[in-house]
Amino acid sequence: MIAPMDHDLQILQAVQEWDKEIYAMQETLEEIPSELTEINQEVERERSKFNQFQDQFKALQLKQKAKEGELATKEENIKKYETQLTQVKTNKEYTSLKSEITSLKADNSILEEGIIDLIDQVESSQKEAANQKKKLEAAEALLIQKKKELEEKAKTMREKIDGLLKEKKEKIKTVNPEIASLYEQIVTKKRGLAMVNVEGEVCPACQIQLRPQVVNEIKMKEKIIICDNCSRILYCAS
Ligand SMILES: [Zn+2]
Repeated sequence: MIAPMDHDLQILQAVQEWDKEIYAMQETLEEIPSELTEINQEVERERSKFNQFQDQFKALQLKQKAKEGELATKEENIKKYETQLTQVKTNKEYTSLKSEITSLKADNSILEEGIIDLIDQVESSQKEAANQKKKLEAAEALLIQKKKELEEKAKTMREKIDGLLKEKKEKIKTVNPEIASLYEQIVTKKRGLAMVNVEGEVCPACQIQLRPQVVNEIKMKEKIIICDNCSRILYCAS
């Protein structure tokens, strides 16, 4: 016949294995929000880069339009002065208009060069914005996919945890309630590791050297032995 303490320790060993799994899965579940935050931040970085490129593109487009407007105005003035040229009465007026036209034409040729330059800049900034839009869309798609994956993973884990908790509840019923409650206190406090199998003369959880008397008591399996240092239950599986 198996001694009651031996029975309790054997049941708790099985329960401890489930608790290790349960706590490991809970830890993984707790990490999910920060995993999602990281991917979210990546999306936001790509979005802010895209907005920058887009703003740059729009600013250059406005600059191009402004220069084109300036050019058109000056061209109208040239036409107006050329018409006036045919109607002038004095040489002085003629010379003055002529020089005005020459100066406007010089301005316009600089403006035209500037516009050609801006057209290039507008085109390349439009390309940059389009490329960045693709990167942003890829990051957004990855976020959606990752969210779905993590939700599925979390659901599977929660189901598995629920299943293990049910099995644990059933199994622990046969353990002396005082010992079961002590085990629960320790497993909660120590986040998943309440009892350890002593094979040598040290506590495998905290590595403290155990007194020979303690080692003997563990082997006798007559009462619950607690590690002086880490407060875990010490047992001997063999
Ligand atoms: Zn210990």
